[in-house]
Amino acid sequence: VAKSSAPVTKEELGRCTWTLLHTLGAQFPDCPTRQQKKDVKELMAILSRLYPCKDCADHFKEVLRILTANVTQSTFFFLGIMIANPVQAGSQAEFSQWLCHVHNVVNRSLGKPIFPCQRIDARWGKLECQDRACDLQGSTGFS
Ligand code: FAD
Repeated sequence: VAKSSAPVTKEELGRCTWTLLHTLGAQFPDCPTRQQKKDVKELMAILSRLYPCKDCADHFKEVLRILTANVTQSTFFFLGIMIANPVQAGSQAEFSQWLCHVHNVVNRSLGKPIFPCQRIDARWGKLECQDRACDLQGSTGFS
């Protein structure tokens, strides 16, 4: 069957973007460098401005604004979910959990099921890559 060349839908774009983000979460180093932590924060901020679906970008901006609204508070109550602080990327586990929570905020607002974040590693594993050639290199303690 010939592959359709029709433009992607909002749903397909969303699925592909979540695949990229959760795979990045799975591949993120256990000990990221300062640059890697800065990069993920910037990536989220850029996505919230440039995501190619304006409604979704505005929505995402609102989610991030609420998540990062007041860094002196340790938790926020948003759409019935307790969520900790701003973008959390101190480690692979922390970043993948943060992404799971963010995705759940979007899920909740779209009336979709909430994903159990304790199962994140089973759903989004590391890339199958010979000799772990795909792994991102993290900090050795000096960066
Ligand atoms: P998706 O939500 O795309 O999820 C893909 C797969 O990820 C699921 O099948 C499941 O296996 C897994 N999954 C589900 N939840 C989680 C989780 N919490 N953690 C880890 N894995 C999970 N659409 C709109 O209509 N309006 C919007 O405002 C909107 N905003 C969006 C903002 C962003 C930043 C993104 C990336 C997408 C947005 N979307 C929006 C698209 C929407 O989130 C879905 O991607 C789309 O509706 C397709 O949904 P889906 O049911 O196929 O699963």
